[in-house]
Amino acid sequence: MKIAILGAGKSGVGAAMLGKQLKYQVFVSDMGKISDTFKTELKHHHIEFEEGKHTKEKIFEADIIVKSPGIPNKAPLIKAAHEKGMEVISEIEFASRHTNATIIAITGSNGKTTTTGLIFHLLREANMDVKLGGNIGVSFAKLLTEKPAKIYVLEISSFQLDDIKKFKPEIALLLNITPDHLDRYNYDLDTYADSKLRIFENQNESDLLIYNAEDSVIKKKLENRLLSQLTVPVSSRIYQNKKLVVNEQLVFEMKNSPLQGTHNMFNAYCAVRAALRMGVDPAVIQKGLNNFENAPHRLEKVATINGVTFINDSKATNVDAVFCALEAMEEKVVLVIGGVDKGNDYDEIMDLVKKKVKAIVCLGVDNEKLKKAFSHLKIPIKETQKTEEAVAYGWGLAKEGETVLLSPACASFDLFNNYEHRGDEFKKEVLALKNIK
Ligand code: ADP
Repeated sequence: MKIAILGAGKSGVGAAMLGKQLKYQVFVSDMGKISDTFKTELKHHHIEFEEGKHTKEKIFEADIIVKSPGIPNKAPLIKAAHEKGMEVISEIEFASRHTNATIIAITGSNGKTTTTGLIFHLLREANMDVKLGGNIGVSFAKLLTEKPAKIYVLEISSFQLDDIKKFKPEIALLLNITPDHLDRYNYDLDTYADSKLRIFENQNESDLLIYNAEDSVIKKKLENRLLSQLTVPVSSRIYQNKKLVVNEQLVFEMKNSPLQGTHNMFNAYCAVRAALRMGVDPAVIQKGLNNFENAPHRLEKVATINGVTFINDSKATNVDAVFCALEAMEEKVVLVIGGVDKGNDYDEIMDLVKKKVKAIVCLGVDNEKLKKAFSHLKIPIKETQKTEEAVAYGWGLAKEGETVLLSPACASFDLFNNYEHRGDEFKKEVLALKNIK
């Protein structure tokens, strides 16, 4: 069998390695430049590749095409492959065809990494044979080239779901569907939502779907749909007052957990239900909720300097994430926001901004939309392209007991390499400030 892999990023290279191990004849093609790390990996495994071009004749010789999530379906090469009737699948589809392990798959616009990490943590606390990957860490395909595990907990993006066929998680989690990446879906929320819903399309009666019952898009989409699998609809009344109520006898306490804020109560509730389904003992779950360490850049407390707390929420790359961050704030906030706008509607956070934000610092190349959206509030709005200056403005504007929150609502590519870089720069400047004060 011949397999052509388009895109030599994390998932493409993972698929290539798995293909090679399974004795496929593998050819990797990338229109751009392949990073040195991935090139070394491909060479090391004796995998044939090309970069800076797509040699159609060679690609069309393949039996299967595995497409990286970064390549849109409207790309001419993909269109041509479809017209030829070729099978074009995603890396997770390819990987899932080569394992019988239990799959727990998590998708949504926000909360994926937190929830995926927590489920993995809870299962590991129960000494289960489990691995974590997908959209975070190691790709699913690459995981399968390593020592096999009984359970895979996978974070899945909507792009990865675009090209599945039979991918079937035993437990699927659909956290929320809010506008994000709409540029890839013709600015159509409906198409984006349909992509996310595919996470459970192959499930049967013995599988479980855990979903957000209060998300208006999910609610509407599920309205007229008959679901054959088991379901856990999650609504806010079962995760209130820092308690997660499964039933009268089974209640988990969140007051000692590092996960705080309503959105994290929701994430934790979903993770708990997945862990219970996997047979984890409630006492182990409670311990795991308390000793969980979330990934950085998600409402990450950096430092408190002379009573002013600095929080790095650089991963908040859309408006809904900022909504949750503001909701979790107990004191007045100087909000550091901005970057590459992905079609944001700031009205969604207007009430919260009115209530909690005392000043805004725009950190981006083009801040016009932000200034226009918030100017009527008559609060100070500063503008900068330097993280150091943003931190200094924040420090100057916040009083003791208040918070400077980096929660950008935007992608980071105008000024930074990625959201991690943005968060790291913010932390560096905050810590530098701490050394002076
Ligand atoms: P993802 O992997 O989906 O991007 P993360 O767990 O990395 O999700 O969180 C991304 C951002 O969204 C963070 O700023 C976080 O505070 C916020 N967030 C986390 N969970 C939720 C949720 N359930 N709803 C809305 N926002 C959330």
